[in-house]
Amino acid sequence: MLRHVNSFIFPDSIIKEMKSKIKETRKKKIELGFSLCTEKDSNVVVRGSECIGTECSIKVGKCKEEQKYIGNYHTHPRGPASLSTADMITGCSEDIECVGAASFNNMRCFTRKTGTYRCLSETMPFREDEEKVLERSLRISSAVKNPTQILRMGVPQFLRELKQHDKEIGEYYKNRLMLLNKNFDRTNIS
Ligand SMILES: [Zn+2]
Repeated sequence: MLRHVNSFIFPDSIIKEMKSKIKETRKKKIELGFSLCTEKDSNVVVRGSECIGTECSIKVGKCKEEQKYIGNYHTHPRGPASLSTADMITGCSEDIECVGAASFNNMRCFTRKTGTYRCLSETMPFREDEEKVLERSLRISSAVKNPTQILRMGVPQFLRELKQHDKEIGEYYKNRLMLLNKNFDRTNIS
């Protein structure tokens, strides 16, 4: 069976390789993947260079000289088959970005519906909001592990941080999903 994602065709062989990366991720608990390429004058997707760990979300893969680079596939050891902010930023300049979720055993491909410039100009500023939320998250989890830190900052202050964090994290997920839906179409792959 052939799967179509926009104009691209995913043959069984590549779907099998994508699935096997999910299996391997479950064992190794790290991101794994490869770049997606097409042969010249063809829409059939073939596998390019491989990636391991964080380079899967920040490093753009390679294709052979006679091939066209169209995007990436990578796995998430935890979390859903969705694009993180870093994935979105990469995806803004690609034709297709596919993610496999080891915890949920599913795969999704995202294709851009806005231009690269608009996609980037909306996604990049979100990076700063994200850092703020994640920093507070880290402060809270380190305080929870070491209660003397809570006593040092005072319980009322800690509770204020916690309340602020609850508010921010909800907003953060909502905004990230909004950004994703605004700039990308999704297709489930099985
Ligand atoms: Zn990712």
